[in-house]
Amino acid sequence: MVVVYSMAEPGGGGGGGRSGRTADPSDRAQLASAPVPLRRVAALFAPYRWQVATVVALIVASSVVALATPFLVRLVIDEAIPRQDVPLLGWTVAAMVGVAATTAVLGVVQTWLSTTVGQRVMHGLRTAVFSHLQRQSLGFFTRTRGGEVQSRLTHDIGGMQSVVTSTATSLASNATTVVGTVAAMVALSWRLSLLSLLVLPPAVLLTRKVARMRRAVTAERQRSLAELHAQVEEGLSISGVLLGKTLGAGPAQSRRFATTSEDLVGLEVRSQLAGRWRMATMSIVFAGIPALIYLAAGLPATSGGMTIGTLVAFTGLQGWLFRPLMGLLDVGVSVTSSMALFSRVFEYLDLPVEIDEPADPVPLDPAAVRGEVRFENVSFTYTDGHRPALDGVDLVVPAGTSLALVGETGSGKSTLASLVARLADPTRGRVTIDGVDLRDLSLGTLAQVVGVVAQETYLLHTTVRENLRHARPGAGDAEIEEAARRAQVHDVIAALPDGYDTLVGARGHRFSGGEKQRIAIARTLLRDPRVLVLDEATSALDTRTERAVQAALDEASRGRTTITIAHRLSTVREADRIAVLSAGRVVETGTHEELVAAGGRYEELVAAGEREVALAA
Ligand code: ADP
Ligand code: MG
Repeated sequence: MVVVYSMAEPGGGGGGGRSGRTADPSDRAQLASAPVPLRRVAALFAPYRWQVATVVALIVASSVVALATPFLVRLVIDEAIPRQDVPLLGWTVAAMVGVAATTAVLGVVQTWLSTTVGQRVMHGLRTAVFSHLQRQSLGFFTRTRGGEVQSRLTHDIGGMQSVVTSTATSLASNATTVVGTVAAMVALSWRLSLLSLLVLPPAVLLTRKVARMRRAVTAERQRSLAELHAQVEEGLSISGVLLGKTLGAGPAQSRRFATTSEDLVGLEVRSQLAGRWRMATMSIVFAGIPALIYLAAGLPATSGGMTIGTLVAFTGLQGWLFRPLMGLLDVGVSVTSSMALFSRVFEYLDLPVEIDEPADPVPLDPAAVRGEVRFENVSFTYTDGHRPALDGVDLVVPAGTSLALVGETGSGKSTLASLVARLADPTRGRVTIDGVDLRDLSLGTLAQVVGVVAQETYLLHTTVRENLRHARPGAGDAEIEEAARRAQVHDVIAALPDGYDTLVGARGHRFSGGEKQRIAIARTLLRDPRVLVLDEATSALDTRTERAVQAALDEASRGRTTITIAHRLSTVREADRIAVLSAGRVVETGTHEELVAAGGRYEELVAAGEREVALAA
């Protein structure tokens, strides 16, 4: 009957699996570059202080209640069984079950509370980060590596709940278990406690060391396996084989594969052995310590006249220490990774919003806007740019007229157009609509006044109808179809199997480039902005598509102030005015006829491009 309540699985899985970890270097680097004040983390949990206090109380309570078990065991062995005291036996056994049931229930309540608090905090952070990032300028997203934003939002914040709550609760429960268990051990027998406390720390450290070694070997094996997979991928894919054959690299590739494969043999063996060694150490430790205690208890010099019950209770109790001690040794690693998660998320929350709402917006009725756009001595330099992308641009686009921007790639056309939609603010100078600086307009008003049709159209993964309605949430079905008709895309949509209810986007129906652009135009028509910024598609469309797109664009620009990044000579020819950009400066302005007659830069571009003024974006 040796000790039913402890040493449950010597060496078996469980808590040992995560022991011996070392902090992730990237987590350390993160914390070094952006340290997290503990007070800020505490502030997140402040609204839940009562729940947190309750969790701590529950942890302490269940550790204390559990400590009754060894004393009950001693009672059973020393009193109830020798005296055949049936009532006492029944009472103690019932109490044992009661203790187990109580700690189990406390554990459930504790998990429920801590997970709820963790999830609430996470929800708060997730929504805060989402809306904060949404307010970032486009520049932020072009600067940030693709997927990183998404990863932080889903992975970092998602991981936070489990890491943070498990770190905090395991810290609390390990600490209380260790303190409580040591106290109970001393109460049972101070001599044996002394012995245990001499033996346990080296045992714990040894186990940890073996676990670390195993981790190292496993990591190396993992790397080697990945290398092997990469070589298979490289060597046995169509393009890989082609490369190998054409370069005559086949034999070298085979040799390299053989070396990696050979390395793996040794690593696999070491990895298996390391696992076995870890189990072996754990078994020896778990068997050895009780054996030592029995020895000490049996020797007259150390026994101190202890009862059998005390011995059994004590042996069980000391087994409780092992895992919490291992856990406490690893707590630094868990704290580091939790803090690194907070650090990453706080870094995002602390990003300044470059394009922000004005404190005191100028009231402007979007319906009454005339739509005169002015660039006044506008310069713009990208944060990572060496020279200005725009340099002292002065332009006036009278209300209701069209301006075509032409110029070579990199001359600043897209940058200039992006300033009108306030995707960025000028570094110097100002952009105005009806004389009002864009920075003084509320972002909502600006979005109603300025519409953009970009080259790349993003369709949401929903129905065509909802994609269009996204532009104006209140639009009725009839209005949506009318807009699609005017944008020359109604027939295309109507011919789809589910018509306007066809799913589109990344996982739905794929529209061609020309169709997508017409959908974007339909969206713009629904919004009905006074000022329109168009980025003409550069990819050559077939003549029929081009005609449809052109008709849609004409329809969209009628009666509006239109600024077009033009690639087609036909567009440019019909523009009320043309501005030729070169290295961020406006070098010529005028109508097509005027500029051709002047025989300057525009004339050169036209002569070089013939059908398209500037060949690239
Ligand atoms: P265009 O549309 O006429 O081809 P752009 O406005 O795209 O010209 O670019 C103008 C200049 O600004 C170029 O020198 C380009 O390299 C630079 N630039 C454009 N976008 C960025 C960016 N996101 N970050 C840094 N530099 C940029
Ligand atoms: Mg461009």
